[in-house]
Amino acid sequence: MKRYLAEPGKKVEIAKLDPNDNKEFDGGKEKGLERLQELNLELQELQELLYAEGRHKVLVVLQAMDTGGKDGAIRRVFEGVNPQGVRVENFKVPTSEELAHDYLWRVHKVVPAKGEITIFNRSHYEDVLVVRVHEIVPVEVWKKRYDQINQFEKILAESGTTILKFFLNIDKDEQKERLQARLDDPTKHWKFRLGDLEERKLWDRYMEAYEDALNKTSTDYASWYIVPANQKWYRDLVISTVLVETLKGLKMSYPAPEENLDGVVIE
Ligand code: AMP
Ligand code: MG
Repeated sequence: MKRYLAEPGKKVEIAKLDPNDNKEFDGGKEKGLERLQELNLELQELQELLYAEGRHKVLVVLQAMDTGGKDGAIRRVFEGVNPQGVRVENFKVPTSEELAHDYLWRVHKVVPAKGEITIFNRSHYEDVLVVRVHEIVPVEVWKKRYDQINQFEKILAESGTTILKFFLNIDKDEQKERLQARLDDPTKHWKFRLGDLEERKLWDRYMEAYEDALNKTSTDYASWYIVPANQKWYRDLVISTVLVETLKGLKMSYPAPEENLDGVVIE
C-alpha cells in the first residue's frame, strides 16, 4: 500500500489523487470483501498477540471530511476484534475544561497503553483543520502546531507507539450523495446536521488545510496514508492491509510461560 503513503519530504496534492482509485487490488468489490474478511481474521489474531505480549502500543488516527467514512471504517475494519484490547476515542468540539488546557492535553490522556490499540475518530489534527478554517485561534497560533504535533508524535513513537494516520479521501460529489442519503433515510437523520452544509461550503479551504497538514506532518515515525475512500470496500481494504502488515512487521511473540509447563498435570 506504499502507493497511498504520503512520503515524508514529498509534496502531495490532494486534487491530483483519485478517490475512486482501486489499483492495489486485483479484483472487484465481491472479491475485495472476501479479502477483507481474511484480513479481519488476521487482525483478530494479531490483536490478541499484541495484547498478550504487552509491549507495543498502536495508535490509529482517522481524519476525513463529514461523511468521509470514519465510523464505517471503524465498524468494518475492527469487527470481531476483542473489545478488551481496542479503544475508540472520539474528539468533538472541546469542552470548557479542555479549552482551559493546551490542545494536546485531552489527546495525551488517551493515547494507547502497552498492548493496546487506540483509534482516534478525529484527533489533534482538528486543531490545524477546523480550527484553522474557522479561525478559532490566530494564524500565529495554529502555524506553530505542525511542529508541536510532530514533536508530540515523536515522543509517542520513541516510547514504543506505532502510529498510523489515515486521511479518508472522498470527493465533493461523493459527499453530496452521502449527505443526500442521510436526508432520505429517517434512521440516518440523527447523523445529519445542517451545520454540515455550512462546512461543505468551505470544502476548498478544508482541502488546503488538509494538504498542509499532510505535507507538514507525514514523518518516518508517524506517516499519513491517503486512502481513496469513495468506494467503501476499498477504503476498508486499504486500512486493514496497512494495519495487518504493520502489526506483522512488529515481529511479536507470545510471552514465555512463568514455569516450565512440560509434564504439568491438572487433577
Ligand atoms: P462528529 O465527528 O460528526 O461527531 O463531529 C464532531 C465535531 O467536532 C466536528 O464538527 C469537528 O470539527 C468538531 N471538533 C473536533 N475537534 C475540534 C476542535 N479541536 N475544535 C473545534 N471543533 C472540533
Ligand atoms: Mg458529523
